[in-house]
Amino acid sequence: MIGSSRRPTPTEGGPRDVAEQMADAMRDAALDAGLRPSALTGIGVGSPGTVNEATGAVSQARNLPGWDGTFRLGPWLTKALGPPVSVGNDVGVATDAEAQLGAGRPYKSMLGVFWGTGVGGGVILNGQPWLGRGAACEIGHMVVKRNGARCTCGRKGCMEAYAGRAAMEIKARREQARGAKTDLFKLMKKHDRDRLTSGIWERALKARDPLAEKLIDRAVEALGAGVASAVNLLDVEAVIIGGGLGCRLGEPYVKRIRKAMAPHLFGDDRPPALHVAALGDFGGAIGAALLSASRAKAAKAKARSRRARGAPKAVSRSDGASGVAERPAPEPRT
Ligand SMILES: [Zn+2]
Repeated sequence: MIGSSRRPTPTEGGPRDVAEQMADAMRDAALDAGLRPSALTGIGVGSPGTVNEATGAVSQARNLPGWDGTFRLGPWLTKALGPPVSVGNDVGVATDAEAQLGAGRPYKSMLGVFWGTGVGGGVILNGQPWLGRGAACEIGHMVVKRNGARCTCGRKGCMEAYAGRAAMEIKARREQARGAKTDLFKLMKKHDRDRLTSGIWERALKARDPLAEKLIDRAVEALGAGVASAVNLLDVEAVIIGGGLGCRLGEPYVKRIRKAMAPHLFGDDRPPALHVAALGDFGGAIGAALLSASRAKAAKAKARSRRARGAPKAVSRSDGASGVAERPAPEPRT
């Protein structure tokens, strides 16, 4: 990693506000590496929501403000920054990164489970990511209890309704209001946070906070049922556990998830290998860069084969030569 930058995700506004913040962070990251964004071969983005990898459009990124519809994030960022922008699902690209460079390297098939604010998933089958129609691998919304707890997606009984950090915080507030003893919110204030971060959960668990232990136990049980069900369907060689909570709580909790999976596994004589994600927080960024690199490689190969067939080379107007004029980039739509 030669340059990085972080910006808080806007909590209000709409897709354009998020995209502007992303463009600023990308300019800063390039600057940090001593480059202008225009000098880059490509830019990769991992985004929540349903991603159309062909067009760079992102739909229903509901954890982001005002993003219930579709926004053409890729074309918007290309216009703002210059180089071609490739967009993939954030958890999908993080799974690719683990498969290519991280804990999933020895395996041809694997499931990535990202335990954080929500519970995201990614699937690699025969070395290839499975994207479905663009919305595959929403493992957090596998139903672990019919008519169960209300999920942040509005449905009931999803794994994420028990294991997602956002849902766990809602439950913790409710339990505290009902008189449950906990230092979770005291710790949150003491460490100057406005929500229960993975670090706050970790501290509370270390202090043996009874409510934190109860809610994490409940999360582990839900993860056991949901992940085992996904394994029953796919029979993958390995499950990689990442995300804010997964990476923070690490190996001891991966062991607990393995134990919670056992009673639900059909092929219980040969369970999959379970590992903590090796790339941690940077998995998403690394995976997005890999996506961009593979796109650039594919574009080069296509141009080479076009030249080999003797097709005329397209020349852009900016080259000052006559030839095929570039069509102006379409306006982003919200
Ligand atoms: Zn849900």
